[in-house]
Amino acid sequence: MSVKEPIKIVTPPLAANVYLILDEKKAIVDTGGDAAFLIKALGKYINPTEIDYIILTHSHFDHASAAGELKEYLKAKIIMHPVEYEFVKSFNFSSPLFGINFKPFTVDISVEEENVIELGELELKVFHTPGHTPGSICLYEEDKKWLFSGDVVFPHGSFGRVDFPGGNGAELLKSIERLAKLEVEKLYPGHDEPVGKASEHIKRSLMFARMML
Ligand SMILES: [Zn+2]
Repeated sequence: MSVKEPIKIVTPPLAANVYLILDEKKAIVDTGGDAAFLIKALGKYINPTEIDYIILTHSHFDHASAAGELKEYLKAKIIMHPVEYEFVKSFNFSSPLFGINFKPFTVDISVEEENVIELGELELKVFHTPGHTPGSICLYEEDKKWLFSGDVVFPHGSFGRVDFPGGNGAELLKSIERLAKLEVEKLYPGHDEPVGKASEHIKRSLMFARMML
């Protein structure tokens, strides 16, 4: 089967992007904060119960707080970095800054640096890219040259905040330096619009990160 471009769904409450990837295995990257909203939105493209994997780039509530509820409904496996799972557990599945609690969940597949999530034609290589949060991951599809960057880098030279708990500017800079070495055609960020010629965007992020972090 030929793989379609990832489908972007903008989710409440803070407009985090969820990406639906349709291959032999079906995956979503992040969940947003409203399970009912996402199930309805996914239903335009697929029977949501066909989704195999819920991949979480990181545990911030705007990206991941619907994961527990979704997992119950979808029976999909949650994939996450172990450091990030310890991090979200240390806050007892809440966002102290925003006063939001989310339904606790367990991780089914822990992924670390260099692990590959095989979807069929697509293979998502995991990069551990701390700095925005301790266990943030980016996902790189080497053949397509796609990068799902969570809140690590955004288009037009933007990059993730480091002033939330667990943020670390020096680590983020190192993470962006690594991403800037990749050949990336299309960037699928955790907020904002996907962009082409993505390596240029990431290099701009690196330039600004070097000045500001
Ligand atoms: Zn975040």
